[in-house]
Amino acid sequence: MTTNDTTTTTTVADEHVHVEDVPTGLLIGGSWRPATGGRTIAVQDPSTGAVLAEVADATPEDGIAALDAAVAAQDAWAATAPRERSDVLRRTFDLVHEHTDDLAALMTLEMGKPLAESRGEVVYGAEFLRWFSEEAVRIGGDYRTNPEGTGRGIVLKRPVGPVYAITPWNFPLAMATRKIAPALAAGCTVVIKPADLTPLTTLFLAELFRRAGLPDGVLNVVTSSDAKELSAPIIADRRLRKLTFTGSTPVGSALLKQAADNVLRTSMELGGNAPLLVFDDADLDTAVTSAMQAKFRNVGEACTAANRFFVQDGIADAFLAALTAKVEALRIGRGSEDGTTIGPLIDGRAVDKAAALVDDAVERGARLVVGGERVDRQGTFYGPTVLDDVQPGSDILTTEIFGPVVAITRFHTEDEGIRLANDTEYGLVAYAYTSDFARGQRLAERLETGMLGLNTGVVSNAAFPFGGVKASGIGREGSHEGIEEYLETVYVLTPDPFAR
Ligand code: NAD
Repeated sequence: MTTNDTTTTTTVADEHVHVEDVPTGLLIGGSWRPATGGRTIAVQDPSTGAVLAEVADATPEDGIAALDAAVAAQDAWAATAPRERSDVLRRTFDLVHEHTDDLAALMTLEMGKPLAESRGEVVYGAEFLRWFSEEAVRIGGDYRTNPEGTGRGIVLKRPVGPVYAITPWNFPLAMATRKIAPALAAGCTVVIKPADLTPLTTLFLAELFRRAGLPDGVLNVVTSSDAKELSAPIIADRRLRKLTFTGSTPVGSALLKQAADNVLRTSMELGGNAPLLVFDDADLDTAVTSAMQAKFRNVGEACTAANRFFVQDGIADAFLAALTAKVEALRIGRGSEDGTTIGPLIDGRAVDKAAALVDDAVERGARLVVGGERVDRQGTFYGPTVLDDVQPGSDILTTEIFGPVVAITRFHTEDEGIRLANDTEYGLVAYAYTSDFARGQRLAERLETGMLGLNTGVVSNAAFPFGGVKASGIGREGSHEGIEEYLETVYVLTPDPFAR
């Protein structure tokens, strides 16, 4: 790796996986550098508590330096040929695939998910690079005669300007590419701040962008132990033109208030509380297999994780039995160990939260079918759990669990199922299992959600618009809608060229 400072890379490894030359500095204006004052953040492996690396802990001055670099690079980047921007994204896509093992190992070490899932995230995360390399050359416009016939309107698109991106820890690669790729495709420069729990994947990705020939200053990375202190001056700076955030609803809401001062363009991908509906006429195998994916992917630590299971009376016993058998077969372990299907939760607070939600549900009358316990081993593990007959008023129905816990409530009629599903301030994704196509259409029209997985357990796909309604956010990522989040519309009126 070519860096300006050899103190800004390290080797990250355990007995199963090994990654050399992982950047640990701040990427500002094309150079890796330590934080001003030299402070660092320890990145830990949640399955052991071991320190994997020390990364730079940026000061607010470092944050502004990163914005300076993005501002300085903005005009030249916006002026590059779309094909050039497309080619850089496409080369980065190829490099990400070449480094699948490294990126997967980093994600498993710093976040804990099983290696097979990390590999899946490399494929998914890379798709945003490919998709937006294709979108970069298809930015549209319009040319029309006005209704009066007296003039011509030209509508053009141009990049919104420097972007500040803030990402969460649960999908360290995909949450970064989902923002960086459309921003770069549109001609925007970026400062990105990954979560301090999982910064290594984003730092490695940024190095791959450099190797792919991205000009200096177009992508800048700052890592910090104090996200608020670092972010506030960046968001308050009038040179910033766009804030894109993925994370929890309370933080998103606080950021929207800060963004209001400068009337900043914002995209908000926030929390979820996904309902999963199983109707009597569902195919049982499909429902159970898909529900396992919707619940246990990423150890349940996904904004798209099924949070509330609503199962119709006629199929409830069979569904519960089949699902419980699959849950009992899950294998707990470190993500880098062969055969692991359930890794650790991200930290001790996440384990406490899952435990408190399960205890509250049981105290209020839910039946504990399996699990319900912390796992007695090193690291932050919580055992896969199934609760049946969860009672109204239980905290687990109103809180994002972010852990391997199934909470089942039974229902009688379609109307009741829909009412229960919509009884939340969130609206990111819903899942439904039914063999009645018309019912599926009714659900699509009546569920208050940005996305619906109909007879499937995973909806994420770079080619389709990802995002929520209600408290789950504003804006969409992926699809052709994703690039619009980084474009301004400009309209020009000209006189009728035939009028003399
Ligand atoms: P979080 O809101 O605590 O943190 C997200 C990011 O914001 C991190 O980088 C964090 O450092 C930063 N941050 C925290 N406080 C900040 C502040 N005051 N100012 C600026 N930045 C700040 O969320 P998390 O725990 O990292 O992630 C889990 C949450 O993210 C869940 O609610 C989940 O549903 C949501 N999520 C949503 C999506 C989506 O696409 N809708 C995807 C993944 C995760």
